[in-house]
Amino acid sequence: MKKEFAVIGLGRFGGSIVEELRELDVDVLAIDVNAERVKDFQDIATESVIADTTEEQVLKDLGLRNFDHVVVAIGDNIQSSILTTLLLKDLDVKRVTVKAQSSYHARVLEKIGADFVVHPERDMGRRIAHKLVSNSVLDYLELGGEYSVVEYLANDKMIGRSILDLDIRAEYGISIMAIKRDDDIIVSPDPAVKIIAGDVLISIGNDDDLNYFEKKVM
Ligand code: ADP
Repeated sequence: MKKEFAVIGLGRFGGSIVEELRELDVDVLAIDVNAERVKDFQDIATESVIADTTEEQVLKDLGLRNFDHVVVAIGDNIQSSILTTLLLKDLDVKRVTVKAQSSYHARVLEKIGADFVVHPERDMGRRIAHKLVSNSVLDYLELGGEYSVVEYLANDKMIGRSILDLDIRAEYGISIMAIKRDDDIIVSPDPAVKIIAGDVLISIGNDDDLNYFEKKVM
């Protein structure tokens, strides 16, 4: 087994990471303290182990220091998540990605050296809120620092008009980076190109500007 990825915590989040990494043909060591969970993954993960990762010796015995990337997907038990992360960084694991449960949890994780802190529930909640507000918002990706990328399905106010006609950049301060049209992606589209039904506009901008655009046009 190539020592690339290990995933600790095989709940919905960690479990789907293991499944997807295997789909991508990457070796994964799957770890959980719960024997049932480990059993569920024994045919999916490259290797699966029952272990409590809050014990330093356990992490050493598992050889986790030799892994390039460890994902800590321990859900509700914030103490175990923090302790596991601390021990992994003490072992000099290069990249440790941790799922945060709250913003306080995230702040602690950043302080103790977690390399990537992810907030799947919060991010998904935000994405879904945008989709709920408008059927035309297909996807939403927060870039941090109050900037996002949003995919809009062209609506009646846009179809037949060009980016120039809509005066999107001057009027709303957002940029159309690309247009998805059938299987093609038109990168940096010519502002004169006419928008047709089914087009998806991939836009980037400040969150306030994107929200304003959504209110006015979507
Ligand atoms: P999700 O919200 O992603 O479904 P869960 O809380 O259901 O998350 O899953 C977290 C997993 O982490 C559980 O399967 C739990 O057994 C595991 N876990 C909790 N503490 C430890 C620990 N100290 N060592 C290893 N695995 C742990």
